[in-house]
Amino acid sequence: MKRRERQFQRALVLMLTVVLTVCSLTACGKETGWRAREVAVIDDNYRTWYEIFVYSFCDSDGDQVGDLQGVISKLDYIADMGFNGIWLMPIMPAASYHKYDVKDYQAIEAEYGTMGDFEQLVAECDKRGIKLIIDLVLNHTSSEHPWFVGACDYLESLGEGEEPSAEACPYYEYYNFVKGKPNSDTWYQVGTTDYYYEGMFWSGMPDVNFESEALRREFEAIVDFWMEKGVGGFRLDAVKEFYSGSTGKNVEVLTWLNDYVKAAYPDAYMVGEAWEGLNTYAQYYASGIDSFFNFEFAGPTGVITKTMMFSGETNSAQAYAKALVRVQNAIRDYRADAIDAPFFVNHDMARAAGYMQYDQRKVKMAAALNILMSGSVFVYYGEEIGMTGSGKDENKRAPMYWSADAQAEGMTRGPLDMEPQENQFASAEEQMKAADSIYSFYKDAILLRNQNPEIARGTVARLEDVADLDIAAISKTYNEETIYLLYNISETEEKQVAMQQYGALGIAGYLCADGGEVTMKDGVVTLPSYSVVVLRGEAAADRQ
Ligand code: CA
Repeated sequence: MKRRERQFQRALVLMLTVVLTVCSLTACGKETGWRAREVAVIDDNYRTWYEIFVYSFCDSDGDQVGDLQGVISKLDYIADMGFNGIWLMPIMPAASYHKYDVKDYQAIEAEYGTMGDFEQLVAECDKRGIKLIIDLVLNHTSSEHPWFVGACDYLESLGEGEEPSAEACPYYEYYNFVKGKPNSDTWYQVGTTDYYYEGMFWSGMPDVNFESEALRREFEAIVDFWMEKGVGGFRLDAVKEFYSGSTGKNVEVLTWLNDYVKAAYPDAYMVGEAWEGLNTYAQYYASGIDSFFNFEFAGPTGVITKTMMFSGETNSAQAYAKALVRVQNAIRDYRADAIDAPFFVNHDMARAAGYMQYDQRKVKMAAALNILMSGSVFVYYGEEIGMTGSGKDENKRAPMYWSADAQAEGMTRGPLDMEPQENQFASAEEQMKAADSIYSFYKDAILLRNQNPEIARGTVARLEDVADLDIAAISKTYNEETIYLLYNISETEEKQVAMQQYGALGIAGYLCADGGEVTMKDGVVTLPSYSVVVLRGEAAADRQ
């Protein structure tokens, strides 16, 4: 080969390399600007969790019912979004499609897979730094659980005038049985006997009796079973119904459970569902359980929706900032190291896109109001693509919209009684390719959270000198580092916020739900409509 030809070839290779590098730094994957900053994920219990309804998530074997192998096949999708925790809704054998009525606490629902599949899932989560927690339903069992079947068979076998006893049948004391019909519609007859049992939710879910020490020993063994399988902890279902109406007794049950779990597994994480107002659910933190879901901010009437969709001072951006401080203080009154568990919606609530009237900018901004909160944030599967779902419960648990092609690999059929759901936004497959999609916005929001450990762990304070009602201005302090977050919740207006009084700050990252970019000049931050910026000491922030 002639020298000039070789030179030409070398130049060509060099040129191609430059083109490919520029490409990889921009559209083709590798991020620039604030997105290029390193993540600083800490291996503790302040995480970003993804809630999965296995039934509707991803099918691996073609029966159109989601399963554990399907979840395994999507772990890279979940990890790539930045999630480092997964909450699996119940996976144990049950009578219903939702599986909150457990028939066997130490097995895997057959349509979801095998215990081997579960062990593989745990190992695959470990590889990716994902903590896996499972739903633990202690308030009630299925009426088909052998304990309940045994207790009922026993009661039906009693002779005339014979009194039941736990000595004769230990399961008799596992549930709440009474003789004679109570004046309440949550009690159901045992066969044709004079005995009735309590079922707060329905007849198929008999409530257990936590007065029974033998029952508590059973639950301790169940907790051990799953911890030894390698789970990272539990999501505790319906804790306010252990003793309906008695917060004090519920806290006692949770204190027992927490003491038991933490003695053997100090790193375990538990989050309880106490579906109550703030002043009540805050009291549950006295049990020592790490987290309780933050119902104050969630759902169609919570702080996030009010901030986005209602007007007036009480629904302003400043009211949002005040609520952050109010919740933080309320839960810390009961435990100094309480970890808030904010979420926007879960499997019992209509999906968020509907609250936002399918306005993509609002869906994104609401997500930012959730994901940048302190504590352990939970995101329900499908929220990251703005899925549709409201009305009956089945509709809220619709198939994950992986692809517009319902026959595509992994697609599930959803609960049998679900009404057809028509998604307003594109499928995950399509949104993953679009930089301005809801999916990409979620990914950015979680990235920002993972880059700045103060976002999850910081103590929140309001910046009271920022007077604009459309601006939420807060600081978060953790490990003697303070960062500042400014949220512009105006639908139309660009806003300027002077921050000179907080020292030399730089932009660490930002989210713009309505396009554009956040800029800073001479200590004044300019925020487009629907945007959030994270500021930190200039030395630590990326210079823009
Ligand atoms: Ca399947």
